[in-house]
Amino acid sequence: MRAFGSDTRLPTVAMVLDLLRERTQVSRIELAQATGLTRATMTNAVRKLIDLGFVHEVGTARSQRGTPRRLLELQPDACHMVGLQFDRFRGVAVIVDLAGGIVARRELPVLGERGPDEVVPELAAAVCEMIGASALAREAIRGIGIATYGPQDRDAGVLLTPQPTPEWQGYPLASAVAEATGLPVAIENDATAAGIGAQHLGAAPSNFAVVYMSGGIGGGLIIDGHPYRGATSNGLELGHISVDPAGAACGCGNRGCLDNVASPVAVAHLASRTPLAARLGLGTDPLEAFGLVGRAAADGDAEAAELIDASVLNLTAAAVTLVNLLDVGSVVLAGSAFTEFGDRYRDAVQDALDRSVFMRHVHSVNVELAGDLAHAAAVGAAMVVLRNLLEEPGLGDRPAPKR
Ligand SMILES: [Zn+2]
Repeated sequence: MRAFGSDTRLPTVAMVLDLLRERTQVSRIELAQATGLTRATMTNAVRKLIDLGFVHEVGTARSQRGTPRRLLELQPDACHMVGLQFDRFRGVAVIVDLAGGIVARRELPVLGERGPDEVVPELAAAVCEMIGASALAREAIRGIGIATYGPQDRDAGVLLTPQPTPEWQGYPLASAVAEATGLPVAIENDATAAGIGAQHLGAAPSNFAVVYMSGGIGGGLIIDGHPYRGATSNGLELGHISVDPAGAACGCGNRGCLDNVASPVAVAHLASRTPLAARLGLGTDPLEAFGLVGRAAADGDAEAAELIDASVLNLTAAAVTLVNLLDVGSVVLAGSAFTEFGDRYRDAVQDALDRSVFMRHVHSVNVELAGDLAHAAAVGAAMVVLRNLLEEPGLGDRPAPKR
């Protein structure tokens, strides 16, 4: 097992790379000042990035003392990663460059109620098609990051849940996709990946909690720009916070879980047992049904509004608990379920935090939607591949390529 909290150390090279993404052109001295690293450490980190081809020197600028400083610039095209996000109801794939920019995207087949023998070859084929349709050489792709649900053994790349079929329990997802595509694969909790993605898709702050909603609800935490993963990457399970200790039993073993009263799957299930099912023509896809109920609520349907209001109320209660526990400065909402009605949830969470969070007289807590709600987790998963690459021992010790 990974040592508790060891992942919160941001490796030097990754930290320098993050700064280079933020600033167009920057000198080593400016980087050292911004990071607090010694000039020697900075010089070493920059040399590694130049050796990898990730950074180029692009000229000089005069310092205040008049001495010339070489300027550095990120080369976004030097490295590309694939990111996938998939669950039972939605799946997307992206190719991301070194700067976190999306250069290709497509939808993926969803899990539904199917087992890995059927699904994994489809995922692999979709990834290979996406790479083939892009202008990139296959060698330009450094790996695949997969954002998906838990519980999971992130280090081993294995899913630890019998959902949606028993064959997924203990299934070696990372090695199976690696074998099918010929690329290295890492897996990541989808809410954590959404937090990493949000950093690259907008002006996400360096400390924030994530509320992630696809079919179900999850949570994530970014501390000083780096994901918090707890002991086994299975923390921040917001969907399994009990909002009603006397409520219905949940498959997780707890009672009255948020997931069972606020998630799109829960809203769709509750709606299917009311006259809304016939009135709105609800089908079997819970995210589609959630969308229909949400639109009806926005159009003034009282029965639909009651379901959405209950979802919003329960989610805001969990968000207040989350902030009371963590004392974060911001909450970022991400996930495809927020695409259409994100503003309604954001406004309600903001209002609840303003009114009732414990530390509100000390500081306000800002609630915002991630830059690309439906793709944030896939982008984050792709960036996990890059972080893994940068954490490899001996990175950049190889000779610089001849130019
Ligand atoms: Zn539960």
